[in-house]
Amino acid sequence: MDNDCKDLQEKILKLKKERKALILAHNYQTIEIQEIADYVGDSLQLARKSAESNGYEMIIFSGVRFMAEMAAVLCPNVPVYIPDPGALCPLAAYIDAAAVRKKKEEYPDAPVVVYVNTTAETKTETDFICTSGSAVEVVESLGAETVLFGPDANLAEHVRRHTNVKIVDIDPRGRCYVHNMFDLSMLIELKKKYPDAIAIAHPECPIEVQEAADMVGSTGMMVRTVAESDAKTFIIATEMGLVHQLQKNHPDKTIIPLYEGAVCRQMKKHTLQKILDVLENLPEANLVTVPTHTAPHIREVLEHMNKVKGQGPAVAVDVGT
Ligand code: SF4
Repeated sequence: MDNDCKDLQEKILKLKKERKALILAHNYQTIEIQEIADYVGDSLQLARKSAESNGYEMIIFSGVRFMAEMAAVLCPNVPVYIPDPGALCPLAAYIDAAAVRKKKEEYPDAPVVVYVNTTAETKTETDFICTSGSAVEVVESLGAETVLFGPDANLAEHVRRHTNVKIVDIDPRGRCYVHNMFDLSMLIELKKKYPDAIAIAHPECPIEVQEAADMVGSTGMMVRTVAESDAKTFIIATEMGLVHQLQKNHPDKTIIPLYEGAVCRQMKKHTLQKILDVLENLPEANLVTVPTHTAPHIREVLEHMNKVKGQGPAVAVDVGT
């Protein structure tokens, strides 16, 4: 790490204390940002941390905007800032509230389940919310024959294969471009090279990659698995920020990325300098708010998800994204 970076980190840590700021960083952030965060985790873990932000006077959320929106919903009395307001998840952009309404007209009796990777406005049109790890349980809990699901078609396929429910994609094109970079040949190649490695794939990966992996789970589940397993080598099919974090925290283990080019450009829009700018200037443009009418419904559907979330026996899945 160069001196400029250390200098920025020191300034942030000092000002963070003065401002009583809680800094939350997603697992896909750079290591420099993870190092100055109060908490690093997946989207749901961070949402829960924001709900426990008593005593803080501001939250700086280093993740994409839909995640910061969840913090704004769960912690309405503390201002939530995002270091770069342009950090939008392209997967979330595949479906909006109008697309959900249109699909509902085609299937008026089917409940709608959306992945947390959606805007607050889209969430208001849905009956239920799920994370990558709770999707199977949430869908099963409804007892419905048909469920409308979006925006991630790979996660939808994961649910289709682990339930007896007819899953209708709200938009079958919906994919995370980062996880969609992985393909089966990459995994076969690495498994040949590292036969003892445990391969863990995120449920946003193409289904053939998920099925060839030893485990499927969220970034939070990957963190726990690497920490708790006796295995020494892991092949990780998710964004590079998590790969770097795992290798840094487990120098005695070998963490192999399925593909080194799997970098989320939107997550990487945040920088130490932008975090410092927020702390120094509290720019209004970086404040994250949600339309007031959306908050009660989002709280209600999150509550339902928390109630049904469990561990399915068929796949090793967990909460978060
Ligand atoms: S990794 Fe994929 S799902 Fe996550 S923020 Fe980036 S584009 Fe969105």
